[in-house]
Amino acid sequence: DKGERIAKVMARAGLCSRRDAEAWIAAGRVELNGTLLETPAVTVTSADKVIVDGKPLPMRERTRLWLYHKPRGLVTTNKDPEGRPTVFERLPKELPRVLAVGRLDINTEGLLLLTNDGGLARVLELPATGWLRRYRVRAFGKVTQAQLDGLAEGVAIEGVLYGAIEATLDKEQGDNVWLTVGLREGKNREVKRVLEHIGLAVNRLIRLSFGPFQLIDLDDGEVREIRGRVLRDQL
Ligand code: URA
Repeated sequence: DKGERIAKVMARAGLCSRRDAEAWIAAGRVELNGTLLETPAVTVTSADKVIVDGKPLPMRERTRLWLYHKPRGLVTTNKDPEGRPTVFERLPKELPRVLAVGRLDINTEGLLLLTNDGGLARVLELPATGWLRRYRVRAFGKVTQAQLDGLAEGVAIEGVLYGAIEATLDKEQGDNVWLTVGLREGKNREVKRVLEHIGLAVNRLIRLSFGPFQLIDLDDGEVREIRGRVLRDQL
């Protein structure tokens, strides 16, 4: 066992990102074998004893990944300053400590990936993965397919540049339209902002897929682990 960089081990334990780990070490929060660590430039093995904020780092577990059907009404943060219910409070009790891959807004529902691997969570949520995120959207207003096609080149709104957006008009329903929207960055409130820009007010937003993973056969609030070959092939 040649060991691994300590920041990587801390991230895998689900504690933080690798970059956070380096900051925590610099801030004097991490001990290695009884000595306060002064630099992240060390490798550790399972024989080493790492203490973070006075608590032993849990022995590292293999990377695990779950699909979760997020219900509406939950925030994707560990602790909400406004005291609203969080995704993490509602997860099945048998799940270990997990992190979400990115976020869905409180009223967004659908596929959210969960993992015990902090490093993996940070990597998968990056726009650089180029992973397609597909949404089913209900929005108040009228739109034509030609208008939606105009989003294919991307759009700048209040100084933020949103990349290519694929949007299809599926049907009209009373004063609403139903669309399928695909994008590859996942910027903050991207779907709502982009559609608002063309006169549509989103009132239902369901994420159908995230990269290779799909929201299929998962009930509201249900969690399913991705195991074995599928996990290895996709990550
Ligand atoms: N776009 C949004 O506007 N909200 C989400 O939750 C996800 C994508």
